[in-house]
Amino acid sequence: MSPTNRRSFLATGAALAAVPTVAALAGQASAATSTDLPDYAPIPPSALGPAVNSQGYYVGRIEKNLYWVTDGTYQSAFLTTREGVVLFDAPPTIGHNLQRAIDEIASANGVSNRVTHLVYSHHHADHLGASSLFGKNVVRIGHAETRKLLARDNDPARPVPDITFEKSHTLRVGGERVELAWHGTNHTPDNVYIHLPDHKTLMLVDVLLPGWVPFDSFNLNEDVPGSIAAPAKAMSYPWKHFVGGHIGRLGSRQDMVVYQQYVDDIIANVKKALAAVDPTPFFVKYGNNSWAAVKEYQAAQVAYASAPVIKKYTGVLAAADVYTASTTFIILESLRLDLGVDSQVHA
Ligand SMILES: [Zn+2]
Repeated sequence: MSPTNRRSFLATGAALAAVPTVAALAGQASAATSTDLPDYAPIPPSALGPAVNSQGYYVGRIEKNLYWVTDGTYQSAFLTTREGVVLFDAPPTIGHNLQRAIDEIASANGVSNRVTHLVYSHHHADHLGASSLFGKNVVRIGHAETRKLLARDNDPARPVPDITFEKSHTLRVGGERVELAWHGTNHTPDNVYIHLPDHKTLMLVDVLLPGWVPFDSFNLNEDVPGSIAAPAKAMSYPWKHFVGGHIGRLGSRQDMVVYQQYVDDIIANVKKALAAVDPTPFFVKYGNNSWAAVKEYQAAQVAYASAPVIKKYTGVLAAADVYTASTTFIILESLRLDLGVDSQVHA
């Protein structure tokens, strides 16, 4: 922090008034009723997908014999072939509705409804927890690291993949082609790009959630620089339809462009905050309680950086006012710790 950037105590104090105090938070400890809960901006209609049926799912065609299923929060996809069905992820929230959706499409088209292959996007239980519903006679395909992580987790709901790959794998079933590739760590160490070139579709889970800002704390991404780099890798593929694994609709290339701009805007505003927010008053106020000083200083940086982004994207991306601040904090820490932004060497 250069002294020329320091602001007066008065100005920073005014900015801090917006940060809730410990006393105010403690007052919320009792059970909330819905009238006590905070209000958020309305969801833009563009964020919403088709309505689910009475059983709680929607199934629709993506392109030709490729379909997608959603419960409004999670997504899966499947490819019907002359030899059986290839399923992509098995979220437990969709659960038995996966087979119902497949049955519905298979009977309408007179093709097999038997799932013969199950492709794993990454090891997380919220996308694979219904894998075991498909039994032992299904060929499961995933990254080598997915196999390691699932062996570690030892969850009977998520059997380890039978076929693994390190860099890439072409899956051919019933005359259809699926290109699987690993391009470095991002959301998790094992998250892969699932490309169906003959169906103009890319599936990449937990990166772009079309129409919405990322889930809490930048989608809980384990590798923040790797996750920031993922959209450009996704855009290097030819595709028209995008399956993001979450929320109620498919994505487009334009959705990816908006998402990249959103992340770039957070990065640019974090850099501004690192230069603009004066740490002095926090350390003066909290003395030897270093954590209190750092906590409040960083909260002020996050508020400074996220406010213009929330303003810009409210009405554009759903829940910009809900999760932009927590994502900003994660990106702030990554810029400091991974990239060394604002790092100062003691004289
Ligand atoms: Zn995940």
